[in-house]
Amino acid sequence: MNLIMLGPPGAGKGTQAAMLAVQLGIPHVASGDLFREALKAETELGLTAKSYMDRGELVPDEVTIAMIRERLLKSDCDKGIILDGFPRTIEQTKALTELLAEQGKTIDAALFIDASEDELVRRLSSRWTCRNCQAIYNLISNPPREKGKCDVCGGELYQRADDVPETVRNRIRVYWDQTSPLIDYYRDEGLLITIESEGGIDHVQAKILEALQSA
Ligand code: AMP
Repeated sequence: MNLIMLGPPGAGKGTQAAMLAVQLGIPHVASGDLFREALKAETELGLTAKSYMDRGELVPDEVTIAMIRERLLKSDCDKGIILDGFPRTIEQTKALTELLAEQGKTIDAALFIDASEDELVRRLSSRWTCRNCQAIYNLISNPPREKGKCDVCGGELYQRADDVPETVRNRIRVYWDQTSPLIDYYRDEGLLITIESEGGIDHVQAKILEALQSA
């Protein structure tokens, strides 16, 4: 199954994608995580991405598409993938269709996780991420058992540099300008499944699984 997670930053895409990956036994491919790994390793890709990420802007399409192409060619993607944070522009959407077609694959569904802007700013500003395994916590709705420490692997939790309020607002603006048109695109393709992100993490996951079963 090849799935795309769509939705504004902070809607809970990453958390839901990680849970879904375990449920379905397929990899969770998050473009933001790939950029952050490249940044940590100080590769050329990471250094190119940094200035865009710091401002909450999108990394240029050709750089992003090349990175995803490389990831999709890995054998663990053979049985399916959950794409999180990619595609984010119409250009990337077209490239994705072509990349998958080269491998005889198609998109099965685009899951659109929705939330109000106030809720997004509130959630992102209280989001903490594990430096080691990328698990996501929220100090309000999903705090770790021990302050500053990951429940899963014991790694150190940190607040992403782009989760500060000013950058958060810019990321939401960029989302509305460049990524929200993808919702109509996938609706027109008959692939869109809309999920409201209210009611807690497990409740949202149950709604997603139910929607996928009846898709
Ligand atoms: P995320 O973790 O998905 O919120 O992504 C963090 C940052 O990485 C974004 O604000 C962008 O700067 C960059 N990024 C991630 N995915 C993409 C993408 N598909 N296209 C362009 N930039 C991206």
